[in-house]
Order: sequence, then structure tokens, then C-alpha cells
Amino acid sequence: MATNDNTPFCDICQQRDLNKLAEEFCPHCAEVLCGDCREHHKISKSTKSHQTISLEKYNKLPSFIKQISHNCQEHGCILEFYCKSHDSLCCKICSISAHKKCKEIIFIQDFLPPSKGHPSVALNNIEKILKNLESNISSAIKDRKRNLTGLREQKRVISEHIKDKRYKINALLDHLEEQLQQNASTLEKTNCGKIEQIIANLENEKEKVEDIQIDVESVKLFASNLQIFMGTKAFQERISTNEDNVQQLYDNGSLNNVTMTCTFNDKVEGFMKNIKTFGDVKIDKSQKHVSFSWKGDKSAQFYEPTSVLESI
Ligand SMILES: [Zn+2]
Ligand SMILES: [Zn+2]
Ligand SMILES: [Zn+2]
Ligand SMILES: [Zn+2]
Repeated sequence: MATNDNTPFCDICQQRDLNKLAEEFCPHCAEVLCGDCREHHKISKSTKSHQTISLEKYNKLPSFIKQISHNCQEHGCILEFYCKSHDSLCCKICSISAHKKCKEIIFIQDFLPPSKGHPSVALNNIEKILKNLESNISSAIKDRKRNLTGLREQKRVISEHIKDKRYKINALLDHLEEQLQQNASTLEKTNCGKIEQIIANLENEKEKVEDIQIDVESVKLFASNLQIFMGTKAFQERISTNEDNVQQLYDNGSLNNVTMTCTFNDKVEGFMKNIKTFGDVKIDKSQKHVSFSWKGDKSAQFYEPTSVLESI
């Protein structure tokens, strides 16, 4: 096909050195034709069966369709048959030579029966399947987007739950800590108060001892023998009371060493020792959400088996 820019010239006319713009394409001849040549093409015995197509429409066809040759490269005849065993197109001569023994040879014209209307009816099922596929894909995309939003929302809620759990644990520990601190403070206050009381008692006894010491000193210096005799007896009684009081403090444990220690709940120790994670986050992929609907008959036989060879 000779072309001038985008518009080709008629192949037939070019053979006669005429440049006429082409209007139509004949896939059988693989030639572009001008208006006049097309009219001739339509009437001529050898070419009247050719399905020509306007160039405008031809250019809209996908390139892999344009590349399909209508003629047998070996014999030059029209490719009218399809051999299922060889998965190849063949012409009349091929079908009785190379494919003589092949069982499933389809006459393409029969596959596209004009009785069913336009031959393109054969593409209706393909269109139906494509429509379904498109709708399935669209619904899957919609569902994936829904899942995306859902998953992000779940993550947000989980984050809140983690924070909330942590907050509750903090609050509980704060409360338990405060209780324990309170216990320690109470024990400190009570026991220090007791020790202070004991110190006061001891100070009191000490003063009494000092008083006796002064009295003994003056009796020793200034008293008569009789006075010393009687005084010694009185001193002994006072000292005895004094001793008893101190002894009593000792006996009732008031002079014992008081210490404070703290032990923690075994469960708290275990918690700190054994806890390795705060929790776990998992993904579940098992739930099938998108149910595909295959309305197109996928199992439909593309090639209806027909014994063509017998009919020609
Ligand atoms: Zn022409
Ligand atoms: Zn032709
Ligand atoms: Zn052939
Ligand atoms: Zn074959």
C-alpha cells in the first residue's frame, strides 16, 4: 500500500501511474482502492465476494486485526478454514493437502452464520464476558478501597485501646503505690511517736537520777550519822523505783531496735519478670468479601464442531 503522508493512493491506479486518493481497503487483495476501482472490484467476477471496508473504518481496527492476512501464503487462495488440531488457518488447497487427515476443520463462514444476523454476533458473548469482568473488577476495586478505609480505622481504634489499657494500668499502679506509701507513712508516724514518748520517759528517769545524785552529795557532806543511815534507806527505795521503771521499759520491748522494711507483692515481681509484650496485633485474611459473579457462559464452546470437509 503506497501512501502519501496519511492518505494512500489507489494501488490499482498507481500501477497505471495515476495518483488517485484511495477510499476503500480490500483485505483479501491487501490493496487500497479509489472510488472507481472499488466499483469495478464490486462487479468483477474474481473479486465480487471480497468484503471491502472504508479506509476510515479500517484505520480504527486494532493493529493485530489489520495484520491478519486473508490469503494463504503458500497457495495464494483465500483462507476459509480453521484447523483446530494445528491451530492454524488454511485455504481450500491446504485443507485437502496438509490437513487431509485432520478431524476438526471448521469452515469459517459456518462459524459466523449469516442466518444469526450480522457475523459480529459471534463477539456478543465476548462482550458479555468483558462486561462481567469489568463489573467484577470494579466491585473488587470498590471493596478493596472499603477494606483500606476499614483497616485504617481499625488501626486507629486499636491505638486508642492500647493507650486506654496503658492508662488503666498506670492508674491502678498509681493507686497501689499511693496505698503503700500511705502505709509506710502511718507506720513511721506511729513508731516514731512511740520512740519519742520513750525518750521522754527516759529523760524523766534521768532527771530523777540527777536529783538523787545531788541529794546524795549534800547528805554525804552535811548529814549526821543517823541522818545518813535513814537517808541511805530512802535513797535505796527511790533508786529501786527508778530501776524498776527503766527495767520495765526494757522488758516491754520499748528499748528494742525498730526498723522498717518493704517487700513487694510476688505478683508485681512476676509481672516485671515474666511480661515480654504488652499484647499482640494480628491480621486475618480469611474472610472472603467479594463474591464474583460470572454471568457470561465461560464454558461455551468457541468453535462449534462441524464436519466441513463432507459438505464441500
Ligand atoms: Zn483506482
Ligand atoms: Zn479484493
Ligand atoms: Zn493454502
Ligand atoms: Zn490440520
